Amino acid sequence: MKILICLKQVPNTMNVKLSSDFTLERETAAQVMNLADESALELGLSLRDTHGGEATVLTMGPMRAESMLREALSRGADHAVLLSDPAFAGADTLITAKCLRAAADKLGGFDLILCGRRASDGETGQVGPMLASMMQIPCVVNAVKADIAGDTLTVKQLTEDGVTTWKAALPALVTLCEWSYRLRLPSIAGLRGAAKAEIKCLTPPDLGISACGIAASPTRVVHVSPRPLGLRPCKKLPLADVLAALEEQEALP
Ligand code: FAD
Repeated sequence: MKILICLKQVPNTMNVKLSSDFTLERETAAQVMNLADESALELGLSLRDTHGGEATVLTMGPMRAESMLREALSRGADHAVLLSDPAFAGADTLITAKCLRAAADKLGGFDLILCGRRASDGETGQVGPMLASMMQIPCVVNAVKADIAGDTLTVKQLTEDGVTTWKAALPALVTLCEWSYRLRLPSIAGLRGAAKAEIKCLTPPDLGISACGIAASPTRVVHVSPRPLGLRPCKKLPLADVLAALEEQEALP
């Protein structure tokens, strides 16, 4: 079984600085593995232990993200791939998903792709579903448990009403909730091996991508404001009213 686990390195703090173009100043804050991605990594390693095969970790980020990949290797990942080049910087979720998809295609033939349900910095929760849509594979988000029997994936999904169970044919993509799996500790042998392991570093030409990063991103963060305390002022509307409002703004496909 070939499993791909997408990991994002995020600031280990809430007080992050934003550059003038509203991208994160990643040099100023200590960086860690995104919390939900820890569950994705542990699920990937557990399924590889049970079913055999390989677990590959993949991240797009600055060269310093290599430290997170080495951490994943020390905990048991088999391979690590870093997409790093100034041209990737500032990508929005669509371009991020496009680059991750290109890397998945280049690395070839994954049975299962695992992501966190959201990154703690950008927190859109868009990359996983976008990646699945681009690869035209089934996608279950907000998973708390997943298992595989034969070619069938069974996933328990956390919803507002409780837990829903889904079955899907492989290949598929699952995004994991934070704390749904407790990430194993690195072993001494794992730490030694990770220190020497080769990390494949790919650039846009390696992926056959010409346009990426902030320049190719159709969306841009233009303003960030602190979340108002308490409940957000939102109105619940019947679907008909929502559709009518979208129609009025010519926002329907
Ligand atoms: P999410 O979609 O929340 O991440 C979900 C999962 O996808 C992660 O758990 C991980 O498994 C995987 N993943 C995400 N990024 C990577 C990566 N680089 N490498 C490997 N796996 C990854 N971009 C937008 O398009 N729209 C916005 O509204 C937006 N708002 C932002 C607000 C802030 C404050 C910041 C700092 C950034 C914002 N961004 C936004 C940029 C966004 O962070 C990037 O597009 C990023 O690459 C993915 O978006 P995300 O952080 O929301 O990830």
